[in-house]
Amino acid sequence: MASQKALNPPKGECRQCWYHAYASNEAHKHLKPREDCPACVDHMLNGHDGMIVGR
Ligand SMILES: [Zn+2]
Ligand SMILES: [Zn+2]
Repeated sequence: MASQKALNPPKGECRQCWYHAYASNEAHKHLKPREDCPACVDHMLNGHDGMIVGR
């Protein structure tokens, strides 16, 4: 169950990356152990296009 903190990123943070960081188990439960998260990798490589809070 995702926490309120995980669902409410502060201004300037990426909604997806915040959620994946603070609700890691929840966000990554579909992945195999040690498998990279495609969503996290995509943001790491390509940026957080349109998902930053407050813009
Ligand atoms: Zn992720
Ligand atoms: Zn991101």
